[in-house]
Amino acid sequence: MHAVRLHDARDLRLDTVDLSSAPQAGEIRLRVAFAGICGSDIHNFKTGRWLSRKPSTAGHEFSGIVEAIGPGVTGFETREKVVADSRDYCGQCAKCRMGKHHVCENLGFVGESRDGGFAEFVDLPVRLVFKCEPSAPLDVMALAEPLAVALHALAKIRLDDGPVFIIGCGSIGALSAMASMLTSDRKIFLCDQNLARVNYVADLCGARVASVADIQSLSKKPDTPVAHVLDTTGNVAVIQSVLKTLTHGTLGFVGIGSGSIDFDPVQAVERELSIVGCHAFADEFPQAIYLLQKYSPRFQPLIAHRIKLDEVPMEFEKIINGQATGVKTLIEIDAN
Ligand SMILES: [Zn+2]
Ligand SMILES: [Zn+2]
Repeated sequence: MHAVRLHDARDLRLDTVDLSSAPQAGEIRLRVAFAGICGSDIHNFKTGRWLSRKPSTAGHEFSGIVEAIGPGVTGFETREKVVADSRDYCGQCAKCRMGKHHVCENLGFVGESRDGGFAEFVDLPVRLVFKCEPSAPLDVMALAEPLAVALHALAKIRLDDGPVFIIGCGSIGALSAMASMLTSDRKIFLCDQNLARVNYVADLCGARVASVADIQSLSKKPDTPVAHVLDTTGNVAVIQSVLKTLTHGTLGFVGIGSGSIDFDPVQAVERELSIVGCHAFADEFPQAIYLLQKYSPRFQPLIAHRIKLDEVPMEFEKIINGQATGVKTLIEIDAN
């Protein structure tokens, strides 16, 4: 079968690999339908930061159908539509025993600690496979993983009825705005350097377009001050400027960037700032599946374009060079 594998930093190839005759005990074989390209795939490609094994079939956001069922697996049938959980957790450590699989002490991610979805087939432990309704569109369902990340980030910053300010309009920013719109009446502010993209997503989500510089005045509004900011960029200059201006509020980090910040903790005391890291997702995956099935036409416009497996290495270069447009690029592997 064909698989797009990361051999080393900056070395991504379309390979032909052998597929075993059947999935192992406790595993399900998926015929992958659609897979999404994520910012963390690009980060790993550029830096090799999460290369725990080489080569590794990339891809942690994907949907498909059940192709084969390994010994001991019950509750699934072939041809059922499914989506994959990305968190390759151990199930044994103290955090896993508390149900906090996303902070598992031995956590890896599908696509890095085990082969992922940029391939025609992938075998996964049954605990990482979730069913969809028969009518669910598998292209939209490939957004389940990043939508769960967005839902978790919104939960972590403990939103109330007041507005949310989302920085960055890539897939996590856009899905956070969409999730907020579908689950609440709160006001949404959205900013991004790419004005065409932010205007497009703001239209879809009923959000207002703003800039990071607006946070200071918005956080001082007497009636509905902005008290919840979600950074999806990981850009340290942006984060630093929010930390300087936000008053009596919460700043959530869900972006992966690089660099560090010079920050005086007294500022957090005096302005009562909460700084919250948001990693992957906890138990938000079923809610993500539910929302995508219920509102699939709302999510469809977030899929910018579709490519084939052999176009993936070239697409990574385009994304790095800033030539990719839209919110989410999907790899169409087997649309039937
Ligand atoms: Zn992702
Ligand atoms: Zn664990």
